[in-house]
Amino acid sequence: NDMFDNLSFKLDRAFKTLKGTGKITEINVATTVKEIRRALIDADVNYKVAKEVTDKIKEEALGRDVLISVSPGQLLVKITQEELTQLMGGAKEEINLKGDPSVILISGLQGSGKTTFSGKLGTYLKKQGRQVLLVACDIYRPAAIEQLKTLGEQIGIEVYAEPGNQNALEIATNAIEYAKKNGKKTVIVDTAGRLAVDEVMMNEISALKESLKPSETLFVVDSMTGQDAVNTAKTFDERLDFDGVVLTKLDGDSRGGAAISIRHVVNKPIKFISTGEKMENLDLFYPDRMAQRILG
Ligand code: GDP
Repeated sequence: NDMFDNLSFKLDRAFKTLKGTGKITEINVATTVKEIRRALIDADVNYKVAKEVTDKIKEEALGRDVLISVSPGQLLVKITQEELTQLMGGAKEEINLKGDPSVILISGLQGSGKTTFSGKLGTYLKKQGRQVLLVACDIYRPAAIEQLKTLGEQIGIEVYAEPGNQNALEIATNAIEYAKKNGKKTVIVDTAGRLAVDEVMMNEISALKESLKPSETLFVVDSMTGQDAVNTAKTFDERLDFDGVVLTKLDGDSRGGAAISIRHVVNKPIKFISTGEKMENLDLFYPDRMAQRILG
């Protein structure tokens, strides 16, 4: 059972339209490509992205047909796999951990999964032998500080917080000083989110980025919000120029469109995918494996 089941099924059906044909022609490939496009749009892929990628698939199919001896259906599967991989960024991209300490800034809307992800990333980096400090900069929700502290206790990672302090920049700056004095080489700063993009939040996170100069700024987004996820990513990137995307809730009933189109629309790599509430449910993002998963 996979979130891409529906899409995989429809793609498979699209490839089957080529069954029994011995050769790729303008006409039979057009039918298949149209079905692929419809399947992608049904999965909540942005229309322009779906059109671009299927135009590319068609062009490749017509250009390559004479060169290889696989069946037209197999050829289309192969080309679709390649084009989806390219669309999602081609190669895996790592996070940047320069600096002493290296600072990782976590941004995103409220409820997107920032705090959960901060814990997961901490766990992931701790496993690599790094000394991690988590910083609670979500100053508007007192419960957020508690949430991070509880999480920190669970995973054995120290949490820096200043309950009552309403100045995120001050907290983060103090946290970095604290990290330097206490041998913490990696600082993960969990920030405040809002339910929707708003000026105060954007100014605050921009100021944090400018002043802390993180080696990595990540944007966390709930994949279940589909095209909204892509639009929010665009808005954040215009203000924040982040380095990478974290797609959360890929275990949910998302139709997968965000995973497929976000890279292309925002032109920033997806670096992690989060697939559950357990601290171990974090994976690096491999475009080729994701394309394979989509094709079923
Ligand atoms: P924040 O407001 O951005 O810090 O979001 P939270 O980390 O508090 O997450 C919001 C809700 O989503 C919580 O109930 C989390 O348990 C849940 N959540 C976070 N990441 C995932 C995920 O990858 N999969 C699922 N199913 N739930 C998640």
